[in-house]
Amino acid sequence: MTTPERPRPKFPLKLDGLVASGGARKTTLLRPQAPLQQAAVDSARAVRPSGLGLDSGDVRQRMVSRLQAAGLRHELVIAALNKVQRHLFVDTALAIQAYEDTSLPIGHGQTISKPSVVARMIELLMAGANARARQSLGQTLEIGTGCGYQAAVLAQLSRQVMSVERLKPLHDKARELLAPLRLTNIRLVYGDGMRGHAPNAPYDSIISAAGGEALPDAWLEQLAVGGRLVAPVHDAGGRQQVLVVVDRTETGYVRSVHEAVNFVPLKSGMD
Ligand code: SAH
Repeated sequence: MTTPERPRPKFPLKLDGLVASGGARKTTLLRPQAPLQQAAVDSARAVRPSGLGLDSGDVRQRMVSRLQAAGLRHELVIAALNKVQRHLFVDTALAIQAYEDTSLPIGHGQTISKPSVVARMIELLMAGANARARQSLGQTLEIGTGCGYQAAVLAQLSRQVMSVERLKPLHDKARELLAPLRLTNIRLVYGDGMRGHAPNAPYDSIISAAGGEALPDAWLEQLAVGGRLVAPVHDAGGRQQVLVVVDRTETGYVRSVHEAVNFVPLKSGMD
Protein backbone atom coordinates (compact mmCIF):
# COMPACT_ATOMS: atom_id res chain seq x y z
CA MET A 1 0.00 0.00 0.00
CA THR A 2 1.33 3.40 -0.90
CA THR A 3 0.83 6.59 1.03
CA PRO A 4 -0.18 9.53 -1.12
CA GLU A 5 2.51 12.17 -1.10
CA ARG A 6 1.63 15.18 1.05
CA PRO A 7 2.08 18.65 -0.43
CA ARG A 8 5.30 20.20 0.85
CA PRO A 9 4.60 22.83 3.50
CA LYS A 10 5.37 26.42 2.62
CA PHE A 11 7.38 28.32 5.21
CA PRO A 12 6.73 30.30 7.32
CA LEU A 13 3.70 28.25 8.34
CA LYS A 14 0.57 30.26 9.14
CA LEU A 15 -0.48 29.27 12.67
CA ASP A 16 -4.19 29.29 11.79
CA GLY A 17 -3.45 26.87 8.96
CA LEU A 18 -2.01 24.15 11.18
CA VAL A 19 -4.25 21.14 11.68
CA ALA A 20 -4.18 18.77 14.59
CA SER A 21 -2.30 15.46 14.12
CA GLY A 22 -4.10 13.13 11.75
CA GLY A 23 -3.76 15.52 8.82
CA ALA A 24 -6.57 16.56 6.56
CA ARG A 25 -9.09 14.13 8.01
CA LYS A 26 -9.14 15.90 11.37
CA THR A 27 -10.65 19.32 11.00
CA THR A 28 -9.90 20.85 14.44
CA LEU A 29 -7.85 23.96 13.88
CA LEU A 30 -5.28 24.81 16.47
CA ARG A 31 -5.45 28.51 17.19
CA PRO A 32 -2.76 29.12 19.75
CA GLN A 33 -2.84 32.84 19.17
CA ALA A 34 -6.62 33.17 19.80
CA PRO A 35 -6.34 33.53 23.61
CA LEU A 36 -3.75 36.25 23.10
CA GLN A 37 -6.05 38.10 20.73
CA GLN A 38 -8.91 37.77 23.23
CA ALA A 39 -6.66 39.05 26.04
CA ALA A 40 -5.80 42.10 23.94
CA VAL A 41 -9.51 42.77 23.33
CA ASP A 42 -10.31 42.30 27.04
CA SER A 43 -7.53 44.57 28.20
CA ALA A 44 -8.50 47.28 25.72
CA ARG A 45 -12.04 47.11 27.13
CA ALA A 46 -11.03 47.12 30.82
CA VAL A 47 -10.87 50.28 32.89
CA ARG A 48 -7.72 49.89 34.89
CA PRO A 49 -6.93 52.71 37.24
CA SER A 50 -5.10 50.38 39.66
CA GLY A 51 -3.42 48.03 37.23
CA LEU A 52 -5.95 45.25 37.88
CA GLY A 53 -8.97 47.28 36.87
CA LEU A 54 -10.79 46.17 40.00
CA ASP A 55 -11.36 49.65 41.45
CA SER A 56 -13.84 50.17 38.66
CA GLY A 57 -17.44 49.86 39.77
CA ASP A 58 -18.12 48.03 36.48
CA VAL A 59 -16.52 44.79 37.64
CA ARG A 60 -18.52 44.85 40.84
CA GLN A 61 -21.71 45.76 39.04
CA ARG A 62 -21.26 42.76 36.77
CA MET A 63 -20.94 40.52 39.84
CA VAL A 64 -24.11 42.04 41.32
CA SER A 65 -25.97 41.73 37.99
CA ARG A 66 -25.16 38.01 38.00
CA LEU A 67 -26.54 37.77 41.56
CA GLN A 68 -29.68 39.60 40.42
CA ALA A 69 -30.06 37.19 37.50
CA ALA A 70 -29.83 34.38 40.07
CA GLY A 71 -32.64 35.90 42.15
CA LEU A 72 -31.28 38.75 44.33
CA ARG A 73 -34.07 41.35 44.54
CA HIS A 74 -33.67 43.68 47.52
CA GLU A 75 -32.64 47.15 46.28
CA LEU A 76 -30.75 48.09 49.45
CA VAL A 77 -28.81 44.82 49.48
CA ILE A 78 -27.96 45.33 45.80
CA ALA A 79 -26.69 48.85 46.55
CA ALA A 80 -24.61 47.63 49.52
CA LEU A 81 -22.94 44.90 47.45
CA ASN A 82 -22.24 47.40 44.70
CA LYS A 83 -20.53 49.67 47.16
CA VAL A 84 -18.06 47.38 48.96
CA GLN A 85 -14.86 46.56 47.09
CA ARG A 86 -14.43 42.83 47.73
CA HIS A 87 -10.96 42.70 46.15
CA LEU A 88 -9.58 44.81 49.00
CA PHE A 89 -10.32 41.95 51.42
CA VAL A 90 -8.31 39.19 49.72
CA ASP A 91 -4.60 38.72 48.99
CA THR A 92 -3.34 40.53 45.89
CA ALA A 93 -2.66 37.18 44.19
CA LEU A 94 -6.38 36.30 44.49
CA ALA A 95 -7.78 39.78 43.80
CA ILE A 96 -8.48 38.92 40.18
CA GLN A 97 -11.00 36.29 41.40
CA ALA A 98 -12.63 38.62 43.92
CA TYR A 99 -15.72 39.29 41.77
CA GLU A 100 -16.38 35.67 40.91
CA ASP A 101 -19.01 33.90 42.96
CA THR A 102 -16.56 31.88 44.96
CA SER A 103 -15.22 31.64 48.48
CA LEU A 104 -11.48 32.33 48.71
CA PRO A 105 -8.87 31.55 51.37
CA ILE A 106 -8.08 34.35 53.82
CA GLY A 107 -5.48 32.46 55.88
CA HIS A 108 -5.68 30.46 59.12
CA GLY A 109 -7.85 27.84 57.40
CA GLN A 110 -10.73 30.31 56.93
CA THR A 111 -12.46 31.68 53.84
CA ILE A 112 -14.22 34.82 52.66
CA SER A 113 -17.84 33.82 52.02
CA LYS A 114 -19.27 33.56 48.49
CA PRO A 115 -21.00 36.79 47.42
CA SER A 116 -24.18 34.86 46.59
CA VAL A 117 -24.30 33.48 50.12
CA VAL A 118 -23.59 36.88 51.70
CA ALA A 119 -26.38 38.34 49.53
CA ARG A 120 -28.83 35.55 50.36
CA MET A 121 -28.25 35.72 54.13
CA ILE A 122 -28.50 39.51 54.25
CA GLU A 123 -31.63 39.44 52.10
CA LEU A 124 -33.15 36.98 54.59
CA LEU A 125 -32.18 39.33 57.45
CA MET A 126 -33.83 42.28 55.68
CA ALA A 127 -37.09 40.33 55.74
CA GLY A 128 -37.13 40.19 59.57
CA ALA A 129 -39.95 42.15 61.23
CA ASN A 130 -37.84 45.02 62.62
CA ALA A 131 -35.67 45.26 59.50
CA ARG A 132 -38.73 45.34 57.22
CA ALA A 133 -40.42 48.03 59.28
CA ARG A 134 -37.31 50.23 59.45
CA GLN A 135 -35.70 49.32 56.11
CA SER A 136 -32.50 48.79 58.11
CA LEU A 137 -30.83 45.86 59.84
CA GLY A 138 -30.71 48.09 62.93
CA GLN A 139 -28.42 46.78 65.66
CA THR A 140 -26.48 43.88 64.09
CA LEU A 141 -24.30 41.11 65.50
CA GLU A 142 -21.98 39.21 63.15
CA ILE A 143 -20.25 36.05 64.35
CA GLY A 144 -17.05 35.38 62.38
CA THR A 145 -15.52 38.63 61.13
CA GLY A 146 -12.91 36.81 59.04
CA CYS A 147 -11.37 39.42 56.74
CA GLY A 148 -14.21 41.89 57.37
CA TYR A 149 -15.90 41.88 53.96
CA GLN A 150 -19.37 40.92 55.14
CA ALA A 151 -19.06 43.31 58.09
CA ALA A 152 -18.48 46.14 55.59
CA VAL A 153 -21.61 45.11 53.63
CA LEU A 154 -23.64 44.87 56.85
CA ALA A 155 -22.43 48.32 57.87
CA GLN A 156 -24.12 49.83 54.78
CA LEU A 157 -27.44 48.50 56.04
CA SER A 158 -27.18 48.69 59.85
CA ARG A 159 -27.26 51.34 62.55
CA GLN A 160 -24.36 49.55 64.23
CA VAL A 161 -22.48 46.30 63.55
CA MET A 162 -20.76 44.35 66.33
CA SER A 163 -18.54 41.75 64.64
CA VAL A 164 -16.89 39.03 66.73
CA GLU A 165 -13.88 36.92 65.66
CA ARG A 166 -12.16 34.20 67.73
CA LEU A 167 -8.84 34.19 65.83
CA LYS A 168 -6.64 37.10 66.87
CA PRO A 169 -4.64 37.33 63.59
CA LEU A 170 -7.88 37.58 61.57
CA HIS A 171 -9.40 40.08 63.99
CA ASP A 172 -6.24 42.23 63.54
CA LYS A 173 -6.26 41.77 59.76
CA ALA A 174 -9.92 42.83 59.52
CA ARG A 175 -9.15 45.93 61.59
CA GLU A 176 -6.36 46.83 59.18
CA LEU A 177 -8.46 46.16 56.05
CA LEU A 178 -11.50 48.05 57.32
CA ALA A 179 -9.61 51.11 58.58
CA PRO A 180 -9.27 52.88 55.20
CA LEU A 181 -13.02 52.46 54.60
CA ARG A 182 -13.77 54.71 57.60
CA LEU A 183 -16.99 52.94 58.47
CA THR A 184 -17.79 54.52 61.80
CA ASN A 185 -20.60 52.10 62.67
CA ILE A 186 -18.53 48.87 62.91
CA ARG A 187 -17.08 47.60 66.19
CA LEU A 188 -14.71 44.64 65.94
CA VAL A 189 -14.61 42.37 68.96
CA TYR A 190 -11.97 39.72 69.65
CA GLY A 191 -13.86 36.98 71.48
CA ASP A 192 -15.87 33.78 71.36
CA GLY A 193 -18.93 34.60 69.28
CA MET A 194 -20.77 31.57 70.65
CA ARG A 195 -21.43 33.82 73.65
CA GLY A 196 -22.77 36.55 71.38
CA HIS A 197 -21.83 40.01 72.62
CA ALA A 198 -24.00 40.93 75.59
CA PRO A 199 -22.89 44.56 76.13
CA ASN A 200 -24.60 45.75 72.93
CA ALA A 201 -27.62 43.41 72.98
CA PRO A 202 -30.44 43.16 72.06
CA TYR A 203 -29.84 42.75 68.33
CA ASP A 204 -32.35 43.26 65.54
CA SER A 205 -30.18 41.12 63.26
CA ILE A 206 -27.77 38.28 64.07
CA ILE A 207 -25.76 36.58 61.33
CA SER A 208 -23.20 33.80 61.68
CA ALA A 209 -20.50 33.06 59.11
CA ALA A 210 -19.63 29.74 60.78
CA GLY A 211 -21.79 26.65 61.30
CA GLY A 212 -22.22 24.67 64.51
CA GLU A 213 -24.19 21.67 65.73
CA ALA A 214 -26.87 23.86 67.28
CA LEU A 215 -27.72 27.53 67.80
CA PRO A 216 -26.01 28.84 70.95
CA ASP A 217 -28.51 29.96 73.61
CA ALA A 218 -26.72 33.32 73.90
CA TRP A 219 -27.75 34.24 70.35
CA LEU A 220 -31.40 33.52 71.04
CA GLU A 221 -31.28 35.44 74.33
CA GLN A 222 -29.61 38.45 72.69
CA LEU A 223 -32.09 38.62 69.80
CA ALA A 224 -34.53 41.55 70.10
CA VAL A 225 -38.29 41.02 69.86
CA GLY A 226 -38.97 41.52 66.14
CA GLY A 227 -35.37 40.56 65.46
CA ARG A 228 -34.13 37.85 63.09
CA LEU A 229 -31.18 35.46 63.23
CA VAL A 230 -29.69 33.72 60.16
CA ALA A 231 -27.07 31.01 60.64
CA PRO A 232 -25.76 27.78 59.14
CA VAL A 233 -26.47 24.79 61.41
CA HIS A 234 -25.83 21.07 60.93
CA ASP A 235 -29.04 19.23 60.15
CA ALA A 236 -30.34 16.42 62.35
CA GLY A 237 -28.17 13.77 60.68
CA GLY A 238 -25.14 16.05 61.04
CA ARG A 239 -24.15 15.35 57.45
CA GLN A 240 -24.83 18.75 55.95
CA GLN A 241 -25.34 22.34 57.00
CA VAL A 242 -28.56 24.18 56.30
CA LEU A 243 -29.44 27.84 56.67
CA VAL A 244 -31.66 28.34 59.68
CA VAL A 245 -33.75 31.47 60.27
CA VAL A 246 -35.13 32.31 63.72
CA ASP A 247 -37.59 35.16 64.34
CA ARG A 248 -38.25 36.34 67.88
CA THR A 249 -41.84 37.38 68.43
CA GLU A 250 -43.68 38.71 71.51
CA THR A 251 -44.58 35.15 72.38
CA GLY A 252 -41.45 33.15 71.51
CA TYR A 253 -39.23 31.97 68.67
CA VAL A 254 -40.24 30.86 65.17
CA ARG A 255 -37.71 28.75 63.31
CA SER A 256 -37.54 27.93 59.59
CA VAL A 257 -35.04 25.82 57.67
CA HIS A 258 -33.72 26.81 54.24
CA GLU A 259 -31.19 25.55 51.68
CA ALA A 260 -28.01 23.53 52.25
CA VAL A 261 -24.82 25.58 52.65
CA ASN A 262 -21.16 24.98 53.36
CA PHE A 263 -19.52 27.14 56.02
CA VAL A 264 -16.38 26.73 58.14
CA PRO A 265 -17.06 25.24 61.59
CA LEU A 266 -18.20 27.35 64.51
CA LYS A 267 -15.64 26.71 67.26
CA SER A 268 -15.72 27.65 70.90
CA GLY A 269 -12.97 29.53 72.72
CA MET A 270 -10.35 31.85 71.27
CA ASP A 271 -6.96 31.39 69.55
N1 SAH B 1 -17.49 37.05 57.44
C1 SAH B 1 -16.41 36.57 56.62
C2 SAH B 1 -16.31 35.07 56.60
C3 SAH B 1 -15.46 34.57 57.70
S1 SAH B 1 -15.24 32.82 57.74
C4 SAH B 1 -16.56 37.16 55.23
O1 SAH B 1 -16.78 38.34 55.14
O2 SAH B 1 -16.43 36.51 54.24
C5 SAH B 1 -15.90 32.48 59.32
C6 SAH B 1 -15.12 33.02 60.48
O3 SAH B 1 -15.78 32.58 61.68
C7 SAH B 1 -13.68 32.54 60.61
O4 SAH B 1 -12.81 33.62 60.58
C8 SAH B 1 -13.65 31.83 61.97
O5 SAH B 1 -12.44 32.01 62.67
C9 SAH B 1 -14.81 32.50 62.68
N2 SAH B 1 -15.36 31.77 63.82
C10 SAH B 1 -15.60 30.44 63.98
N3 SAH B 1 -16.10 30.21 65.21
C11 SAH B 1 -16.21 31.43 65.84
C12 SAH B 1 -16.63 31.84 67.13
N4 SAH B 1 -17.07 30.98 68.04
N5 SAH B 1 -16.59 33.16 67.42
C13 SAH B 1 -16.14 34.06 66.52
N6 SAH B 1 -15.70 33.73 65.30
C14 SAH B 1 -15.72 32.42 64.95
